[in-house]
Amino acid sequence: MKFHTHSSPFSSSRSLALLGALSTVTVSASAATLKVSPAAPQPGDVVTVTVYPAAGERLVAVGMSAWDTATVPFFRRPDGLVRAFVGFPFDRSGGAHTLRARVQVQKNGTTTEQIVSTRVPARDRYYPTQRFSMGGKMAATMSRTAALRSEKLYVQSKMKTSYSAPLWSGNWIVPSAGSASSAYGRKRYINGKWWGQHNGSDIKAPTGTPVYATNGGRVVLSEHLTALRGNCVVIDHGCNIFSLYLHLSRRNVKVGDRVARGQKIGAVGATGFVTGPHLHWEMRVGWEPVDPYQFVRRGVQF
Ligand SMILES: [Zn+2]
Repeated sequence: MKFHTHSSPFSSSRSLALLGALSTVTVSASAATLKVSPAAPQPGDVVTVTVYPAAGERLVAVGMSAWDTATVPFFRRPDGLVRAFVGFPFDRSGGAHTLRARVQVQKNGTTTEQIVSTRVPARDRYYPTQRFSMGGKMAATMSRTAALRSEKLYVQSKMKTSYSAPLWSGNWIVPSAGSASSAYGRKRYINGKWWGQHNGSDIKAPTGTPVYATNGGRVVLSEHLTALRGNCVVIDHGCNIFSLYLHLSRRNVKVGDRVARGQKIGAVGATGFVTGPHLHWEMRVGWEPVDPYQFVRRGVQF
């Protein structure tokens, strides 16, 4: 698997060749090392993975799959380390997890490969159950599986690639005033029927309350999606981190716009599959939804 830089991303064919070359792996005495932060993450966390080269070696490429992310994209930092973010799915348990990467390094003109791994002692996280009831007309949305699936695939298609460097800086902010009404990860039943774990955090606020970009980025989707999300904005923050804002009454940005942290991007509304006005705020690493508030608390940085 490649990692991305501004100037020289690896071609996908080279990435595949690298991933296929397991039998020729050389484990040298001075291997690269793999570190994760937080050291003891829990399901729902964004996990920062950093590869440190051994002295005198230069990292060329890294291949990794972790949890539900088949191909973890790595990005080069100015100091020569490479870093990735991985979403730890909310439906997993704590205990020992192992993250493993195939690392290609150069030293004195010679390229070798190493397998590096680290054992991650994960904590358990308890997510409460929440039960809603909803009128028949709104609840009918739940059975429109084809429309829900096609809308999901459409949103995914806008998030296939991310800018190869951070477009954010500094602290992440909660994107709207209001009260937290349904937390990330809750196990939800609507009219007694399983509706999945909550992949975002809900902020209850009156229609028209401003919604701000949680940090700097580039708008990759801004439109009305009829099946579920209503008026929706998606921002790519770079390095595979995205924020999503659903059910808006108004959108103030268009695809391609660069936005700054705190810039107004729309207003709270009740469009799409909702019971009342609120902001549904998601943070995703690739397609993996993670707990939005940890960005604010932890200050996730590249
Ligand atoms: Zn929600």
